[in-house]
Amino acid sequence: MPEDYLHELRVVSSVLPFKVNQYVVDELIDWSAAPDDPIFRLTFPHRDMLPPDVFDSMSALHLTAASPDVIRKAAREIHGRLNPNPGAQLAANVPTHQEHPLAGVQHKYAETVLVFPAQGQTCHSYCGYCFRWSQFVGNAEIRQVAPDVGRVVSYLEEQHAVTDVLFTGGDPMIMSSAVLERWVDPLLTPALDHIRTIRFGTKALSYWPYRFTTDRDADDLLRLFERIVAGGRHAALMAHFSHPRELQNPAVEKAIRRIRDTGAVIRAQAPLIAHVNDRAEDWAGLWQRLVELGVVPYYMFVERDTGAHSYFSVPLTRALRIYTDAVRSVSGLARTARGPVLSAAPGKVLVDGIADIGGTEVFTLRMLQARDPRLVGRQFFAHHDPSAEWLDDLRPALGSWWP
Ligand SMILES: *Cc1c(COP(=O)(O)O)cnc(C)c1O
Ligand code: SF4
Repeated sequence: MPEDYLHELRVVSSVLPFKVNQYVVDELIDWSAAPDDPIFRLTFPHRDMLPPDVFDSMSALHLTAASPDVIRKAAREIHGRLNPNPGAQLAANVPTHQEHPLAGVQHKYAETVLVFPAQGQTCHSYCGYCFRWSQFVGNAEIRQVAPDVGRVVSYLEEQHAVTDVLFTGGDPMIMSSAVLERWVDPLLTPALDHIRTIRFGTKALSYWPYRFTTDRDADDLLRLFERIVAGGRHAALMAHFSHPRELQNPAVEKAIRRIRDTGAVIRAQAPLIAHVNDRAEDWAGLWQRLVELGVVPYYMFVERDTGAHSYFSVPLTRALRIYTDAVRSVSGLARTARGPVLSAAPGKVLVDGIADIGGTEVFTLRMLQARDPRLVGRQFFAHHDPSAEWLDDLRPALGSWWP
């Protein structure tokens, strides 16, 4: 790569995390199309991922050969300006248990508890747009980490409304099967019979499918899924797929088949991202192939207002058009993907359409998930604004209720 680009890479990756593995480099990126190749854009830094003034100040430090310490300090100051925990995650989602905040746990929606296992806070490669980037930059103040499963279990024993536990990160599939068992097996006891579904949020099928095929402990992982299913519970892989390219390797097909043979169900979700998957045919191709492989399309997200969002975000109007065009060209089996969805502080907001109501052009919006369960399903209206990218950019229309 040219020295100019290597400089940009060093500057951006001293603020935002960068990591790419051999599989992504050898099997996913089409180097003849780089740098515009979607998987290159997905994983490799670009200067526009940082606001211009931030890039320039960090660039100056590198050009004057500042010490790693000085660069780290400057980076830490910048992290605070990039909205490291969007949607009030730390302030509003962390529950209190026995009078203390339950570290590494989020309980935003009544039925689902998120767990961030300490050993799972990295990924096989990093996505440039990641909204969990603050987990990876070695800054304890903005990280969410559960040290062990003990307090999680004692919290769940009291929370009878919880049906789902979702292991997230990072990527929980980065953990060895032995470590993962230490997190999962304690949930499979009769005392936690109200936990009906164990979910794993993962991009390992895209970034390291061998996790489920030839890794030394791949079979142990599949046995773990089988144990969950054998106990009458549901094992769900919430797989992150960004682009149909990620489904083309035979290793992925084999991994999907092996997971499905355990009785676990794979659902697919990803954000809609400029430079990566912002064409309807990307999504139609992805959903169609997923259905053929037995994977259920689940969510199409809007890029969150954090980290490198200025480079990756797509206006809501365009996102809606891409979603609608993609949905139109696939059968009902692929239309299980809901979107575009904003995972915002009050809940998951669906951009349902654009309508003309009595001469006012509005976005019609709907709460798919809400911090307050009574608000699930609630519709509301915002003035149509073709440049709006997030809930904060919208204004209520027609005297609408607002979350
Ligand atoms: C999306 C999300 C969930 C899961 O929601 P489902 O609609 O049940 O998939 C749970 N907790 C948080 C904080 C979320 O953002
Ligand atoms: S796999 Fe998920 S958590 Fe990991 S970098 Fe990508 S978006 Fe972030």
